[in-house]
Amino acid sequence: MKIREVVLTPVAFADPPLLNVMGVHEPFALRTVLELRCEDGVVGLGESYGDSAFADQARRVAAELPGLDVFDLPGIRRAVSRALGDTVVADRHGLIGGASIGKTLASVYSLFEVAALDAQGHVLGRPVADLLGGKARDEVEFSAYLFYKYAGHPDADPDEWGEALTPDALVEQARRMINRYGFRSIKLKGGVLAPEQEIEGIRALADAFPGHPLRLDPNAAWKPDTAIDVARRLDGVLEYLEDPTPGIEGMARVAERAAMPLATNMCVVSFADIEPAFRARAVGVVLSDHHFWGGLRDTQALSTTCRAFGVGLSMHSNSHLGISLAAMVQVAAATPHLSYACDTHWPWKDSDVIVPGALDFVNGAVRVPDRPGLGVELDPDALGRAHEDYLRCGLTRRDDVNYMRRFVQDFEPNTARW
Ligand SMILES: [Mg+2]
Repeated sequence: MKIREVVLTPVAFADPPLLNVMGVHEPFALRTVLELRCEDGVVGLGESYGDSAFADQARRVAAELPGLDVFDLPGIRRAVSRALGDTVVADRHGLIGGASIGKTLASVYSLFEVAALDAQGHVLGRPVADLLGGKARDEVEFSAYLFYKYAGHPDADPDEWGEALTPDALVEQARRMINRYGFRSIKLKGGVLAPEQEIEGIRALADAFPGHPLRLDPNAAWKPDTAIDVARRLDGVLEYLEDPTPGIEGMARVAERAAMPLATNMCVVSFADIEPAFRARAVGVVLSDHHFWGGLRDTQALSTTCRAFGVGLSMHSNSHLGISLAAMVQVAAATPHLSYACDTHWPWKDSDVIVPGALDFVNGAVRVPDRPGLGVELDPDALGRAHEDYLRCGLTRRDDVNYMRRFVQDFEPNTARW
């Protein structure tokens, strides 16, 4: 089954002003949508980052693929290496660890691997989870992903979620999200307010939603001593504390004193980080993300590695659309060692590029589609609209820091601030 044509479409979709350690989300999030068009009308879909640097790398790989067999994943991987050489895509937004050649190759390969697996599934008439070894679960649980946020973007009306800068507003946000999607686990994106205030936010959530597992992710906003103090005060409240402080060494210092496991999508972001981090006992949970861990099969390899070392596995999320959610669901279904509900930004968007209805949340979980491939279908009109939005919005890379300066003139990232 030969690849005939590779179509990459940059898209944008509206995004609320969600706050994090680097600033605030811009009015549009960017993604790249891939169609791998093969013989006999078979099409495989992929979705990944939309920054122009990433899209440029993907275009260079795309030119190498026509004529390759869509089942030849090593051949596709070689094409990625050939096209990119030793190019490094700069760290895209400071929230998923540093950049490296290995991580660049893994990220770009992942986009094409997912689309190849989708195409393979269509050829064989089987879901991607079956190609990955079969379903270990029929549905995949996700967490409610809460953010501190402004009421709306400058010069725009407030969005439907409104402002969230207080414990009461966080509880209200959680209630709305849980009512709509049925989530059990709750995650708060921190690194925005002083630790004292974020502790109050978590305590308010714990009081309002007893029995719901809670996590807090300040994206390395705290110094190790602060992190140790927060961990002590939230002992018995958090199921895990995510990236409280920068770097493997700092995380190891905190991990030694914290009662709950530390999780990361910042200090363990490629296979090269595993040996030093695990040796230092810096993390108890790794957050996988197929977009930068090298695709669905390498995500399973990561899971096997974590299991061997007694380390838990959860799943990280960036702003994403339905093709990415489908890939997350398929790989989560086929990965037995996945110890926690996965993260998703799904509730924060109100448009998509796929035909609706394939991925619905019931009791906080998405049922694994049993249709062939990823189980989702591209909506050409919706894709066209999202591409128009990309052209109109004028953004070419994510820049939370500079956008935040529209709200707070002298803003600097909060990394290791407290
Ligand atoms: Mg994180």
